[in-house]
Amino acid sequence: MRLQTKTVHTGVDKDSAFNSVITPIYQTSTFRFENIGQTKGFDYTRSGNPTRRALEENIAALEGGVSAAAVATGMAAITLVLHFFKTGDHILCTHDCYGGTERLLRTYREQFGLEISYVDMRDLSSVQDAIQPNTKAFWIETPSNPLLNIVDIRELSRIAHRNGALSIVDNTFLSPFNQRPFELGADIIVHSTTKYLNGHSDVVGGAVVVKHQEHAQRLQFLTNALGQGASPFDCWLVLRGIKTLAPRMREHERNAKAVAEFLSSHSHVRKVYYPGLESHPHHELAKRQQSGFGGMVSFEVDGGIEEAKQVLSSTRIFALAESLGGVESLIEHPATMSHASMNPDLREKAGINDRVIRLSVGIEDPNDLIEDLDQALAFQPGTRSRARTSKAVAEC
Ligand SMILES: *Cc1c(COP(=O)(O)O)cnc(C)c1O
Repeated sequence: MRLQTKTVHTGVDKDSAFNSVITPIYQTSTFRFENIGQTKGFDYTRSGNPTRRALEENIAALEGGVSAAAVATGMAAITLVLHFFKTGDHILCTHDCYGGTERLLRTYREQFGLEISYVDMRDLSSVQDAIQPNTKAFWIETPSNPLLNIVDIRELSRIAHRNGALSIVDNTFLSPFNQRPFELGADIIVHSTTKYLNGHSDVVGGAVVVKHQEHAQRLQFLTNALGQGASPFDCWLVLRGIKTLAPRMREHERNAKAVAEFLSSHSHVRKVYYPGLESHPHHELAKRQQSGFGGMVSFEVDGGIEEAKQVLSSTRIFALAESLGGVESLIEHPATMSHASMNPDLREKAGINDRVIRLSVGIEDPNDLIEDLDQALAFQPGTRSRARTSKAVAEC
């Protein structure tokens, strides 16, 4: 089966009692034993549940891994993966990772003695220089949040493996529809299923997928031991959301491209970050490594924090909210919202200044999205650029 067919069919058709087409929600904490030591495959929902198993089969199939764990949040997925390591191990992390990842890594460094260093992974020679004898993993996130930098998963995995380290990729921003890190050499993938996989802004969830059999057992052990498993109902919702992953991702990309082109031509926009634009510094790498450019667009307004605030408070369709990947469009301010927890020095170094605004472009009509941004960007009276609105969409 091809990916789009798997999204619809894997982990489905599980009900041999009544042949329900949809996977049932096994909303139970425990399972009756047939006899001492004999179950029908499940004993207690913390260690395993049929609805959760269905979702895990689906996500593992989409990523091409041997096993997956569906957990309570994206951060739970990252926590779980950190438990593959021990005190004194060194993790080399991309310098512009998700804010919550940086906060968690800081906690693990301070409380549990993991060594963490941050490096700009676009620069392979500084990656090479940052490797230590105790380096056990590379933490890769591409495209990055919120500036959509692209790093080379294949090259980074090669360097990691040459040095006995694992290549771990946070694939939240593109989903397996647009990027399959295992095919590029990664060993472990994490997801916030809260975002594109579920796609409807009604669940927080996470997943870890492993490529190697030797990690599969550790994954199951940790999910149970740490008590991280997602609830049956949440798993059912994510499984339902994934069925429309392919058409949603196509719409997200079409709209994001239209919005990015509109913003690029706007006089109140200083800079647009979208890997699908030919002007993006890693456009060629994105084309090679991804099968699409996704639905996230960031931009810098002309001016400073006041102008940014003006835009953020004036949109009518784009809701001022954190998160991303849902069918509805969102707008947010990384410096004070999604990346507020990030160490300010690191944030500055990563280029996340006060002017940066991040959009999660939804699947609404692109003309409405562009008109909304156009009126929000009209912060200096008399300089609106309505003329280009419909043209930008017509061209995509
Ligand atoms: C949202 C997000 C996370 C954290 O996921 P939660 O479900 O909010 O816990 C991790 N990584 C990336 C790239 C994210 O966007």
